[in-house]
Amino acid sequence: MHPANIPEEIRAQCYCPSCGAHLVPGKCADPLSICLACEGDHRFFIMPQAPLAGDTATAASASFHEIRGLTPEAIASFWLSDPHARSVLNDQLAQLLRATLESRRVVEEPRFSFCPICGNRLAEYDQPDIWVQGLRCQGGHSWALRGGRFFSTIASMRLELQAEHSDDVASRLIAAWLKGNPHLETNLHESVRRVLIGSPLCPRNAIRRSD
Ligand SMILES: [Zn+2]
Ligand SMILES: [Zn+2]
Repeated sequence: MHPANIPEEIRAQCYCPSCGAHLVPGKCADPLSICLACEGDHRFFIMPQAPLAGDTATAASASFHEIRGLTPEAIASFWLSDPHARSVLNDQLAQLLRATLESRRVVEEPRFSFCPICGNRLAEYDQPDIWVQGLRCQGGHSWALRGGRFFSTIASMRLELQAEHSDDVASRLIAAWLKGNPHLETNLHESVRRVLIGSPLCPRNAIRRSD
């Protein structure tokens, strides 16, 4: 799996979709993702290309001797950085492992109000895809928003920003992964399940978190 790339269009400069301030590369616990952050601490991620569903469905049955006896943190880091493990790691699980390792407090998800390319305000516009919200700036850059994923709809531009999940959203996603849904189970290796169960973001640990 290849690390994420910053697209040409925003390499020199780009703007925070949430507040319009400059976005600059920031630190994150996922070595394959690019984190972009503004001075207001809004964080967005350019993720590496997600593994295919057929590959992530083999994760539960994969075996990794390297992780025996490791701490949950070390196991989460292993899944994010080991090429074989990462090549079968579901994209959303990668985000949840990163969030678990970073244990930041994110009260609200960043909004999408400004164009990352030119910093102009975005306005909603009618477009045919009912599954996404269409947003466009005065400069003619068009975007689509779906579940915290914000992507360019201009064919020549390949940019997709993933907004950092709020703690509430991350908790709900972890709860969904731990429910035993047969469609998700094949993606969930036992060691990753244990990391999620111990995560400060896991709903079962919510009381501990608010101490
Ligand atoms: Zn911002
Ligand atoms: Zn623009």
